[in-house]
Amino acid sequence: MTRAEPELPPLREVIAAYELRARKSLGQNFLLDLNLTGRIARAAGPLAGYRVIEIGPGPGGLTRALLAAGAETVIAIEKDTRCIAALGPLSDAYRGRLDVIPGDALTFDVETLGGKPTKIIANLPYNIATPLLIGWLSPRQWPPAWDSLTLMFQKEVAQRIIAEPGGKAYGRLSVITQWRCEAEILFDVPAGAFTPPPKVTSAIVQITPRAAPLAEIDQADLERITMAAFGQRRKMLRRSLSGLDVSAPALIALAGLDPTARAEEIDVAGFCALAKAYAELRETG
Ligand code: SAM
Repeated sequence: MTRAEPELPPLREVIAAYELRARKSLGQNFLLDLNLTGRIARAAGPLAGYRVIEIGPGPGGLTRALLAAGAETVIAIEKDTRCIAALGPLSDAYRGRLDVIPGDALTFDVETLGGKPTKIIANLPYNIATPLLIGWLSPRQWPPAWDSLTLMFQKEVAQRIIAEPGGKAYGRLSVITQWRCEAEILFDVPAGAFTPPPKVTSAIVQITPRAAPLAEIDQADLERITMAAFGQRRKMLRRSLSGLDVSAPALIALAGLDPTARAEEIDVAGFCALAKAYAELRETG
């Protein structure tokens, strides 16, 4: 049996009534096309029985779609007090299912929520999209508290997340994401779909935890290695890894890699091998 959805005013009326002039400093590019917000909600897979965390609900276009798609509850974290007021009627209409939390999403720890199956779905504020993603990818324990991430990024960032070795887009973000997750771009969203339109094309990315990580290594080691290697991405590994606190030739040999290879030629498994070798060499001194 399908539930009757509550009657809600058009989003443009909400924006006018609450004077939600978009603020660039808050990365505000709103989605007002309900077909598109519905498509994003569906892209996240079934929502019935899930708690959904949404970052930056703004005037609530995507929030409505998540609730209409059957999310058991939506926890929406919003920094802009004007938007929080605008979400009041939506909260009333979906009694008990929408919890709007005022504050900064960067300080909200999803891992403390406990228990329930959780999906994170958001049209992210682009100025903090990468630190938010890195935070979700770096829980104290794996698997994380979330079952999937369905997120809007600038297309250029989306391409870095899913990139394979061999190109400019491949880098730290690709390795840190793909070590423990699978990631794919689901579809592009043109700038004209937003109000106001940003300067660039966007894309929806789906990220799901792998059943097992590609290797049992320490994230801090992987970060140290990728930072050194991609920090000088055009240099050979024997050079780019020479600033670490272990011998670069010994490290590269132990990982079974070619010392003349460059960072962008090393696949994710290769970086895992380097992180593992790095831990071993530091342990054995
Ligand atoms: N979800 C809405 C939509 O799709 O129309 C708005 C998306 S807009 C790209 C980003 C939203 O994130 C804005 O509502 C903005 O106020 C909010 N925001 C920006 N920085 C934030 C932060 N640090 N914590 C929580 N929300 C933030």
